Amino acid sequence: MKSIAVTPQKRTVEIINQAEPKRLSPTDVKLRMLEAGVCGTDKEICAFEYGTPPSGSDHLVIGHESLGEVVEIGPKVTRVKLGDLVVPMVRRPCPHDHCMACRSDRQDFCFTGDFQERGIKERHGFMAQFVVDDEKYMNPVPQELRNFAVLVEPLTIAEKGLTQVWQVQQRLPWGCPVTPGKAAAHCHRALVLGAGPVGLLGAMALVNYDFDTYVYSREPAPNPKSQLLESIGAHYISAAKVPAAMLPQQIGNIDLVYEATGASSLSFEMMKYLGTNGIFVFTGVPGRKAPIEVDTDLMMRNLVLKNQVVFGTVNAARESFESSIRDLGTFAKRWPDAVRSLITGRFPMDAYSDLLLGRSSGIKNIIQLNSM
Ligand code: BGC
Repeated sequence: MKSIAVTPQKRTVEIINQAEPKRLSPTDVKLRMLEAGVCGTDKEICAFEYGTPPSGSDHLVIGHESLGEVVEIGPKVTRVKLGDLVVPMVRRPCPHDHCMACRSDRQDFCFTGDFQERGIKERHGFMAQFVVDDEKYMNPVPQELRNFAVLVEPLTIAEKGLTQVWQVQQRLPWGCPVTPGKAAAHCHRALVLGAGPVGLLGAMALVNYDFDTYVYSREPAPNPKSQLLESIGAHYISAAKVPAAMLPQQIGNIDLVYEATGASSLSFEMMKYLGTNGIFVFTGVPGRKAPIEVDTDLMMRNLVLKNQVVFGTVNAARESFESSIRDLGTFAKRWPDAVRSLITGRFPMDAYSDLLLGRSSGIKNIIQLNSM
């Protein structure tokens, strides 16, 4: 079977041939992989800036945003059946007894850092024609989501982030007034930084809660992303037109910032404009660049005097995958064209080099691993 692998020592990214996994343990599931999404993390791994092969292997099979079809199950498998579509989880727990997070199936909060991530850290990933893994990491997806389900994994970032936003929000003894036909966040304003797939999916999740949602990004408008956002009722603000300092004037009190750029300088600049009682969510994993100067007095003063909360979040546990599958279904019904236009194109495995090493354009590019 073919898979796409990175060999850091040899500085190669290539299609390799491996034997198909043959024996399944009682709770294992074998997936015929249908597709895998290409994201910034994959590109960084292919630039040898991130990612680690499994111990004892010189290469890492990449791919963590995926969709597969169950083709074989071990005798004790109960969560999935043959023919099911599934999106596998990415993180695997560390082995340490004292890691309460991993021992509670919450390896997304792993204390030791010895977790593994399929396609990223010490475990082969999903850009392969077949994959075997324990049923516990499988998330079944309804057949009608077949064309979009590869977006489930990137949407889990927003799902886990928003779960925590609501937990933080409980510190306030009031909520938005209950209004028929409006969801829980209808009196709040959210600003998304960045209009890549993580930002756009985050904006959909925010609009779905009725946040008044703004997306701040570089490209001048109109452009396909600004049009997509307007079509779901969000607003696009181009950094080419509106400087960051003007955002509070244009938006009002910024209750939530959802960072989806991975750019630390813009993000810390934006922290200045977070509103009173505001929450700032970091999701990006920036590469190491030269240090930048930030006004720490101003930041600390704002954090205290405005009761602000800043947190980072890395996806994701099973509950986030489940809410992501549910919400993606809602988005696909509510905004079918917008969800469709998140997917720029589907390409055969042979096109990997342009997609992973070139400056491929669009929103979400997908590599097909087997016929759908
Ligand atoms: C993946 C996460 C992973 C993170 C850090 C992201 O691209 O979606 O599953 O935890 O990278 O490695």
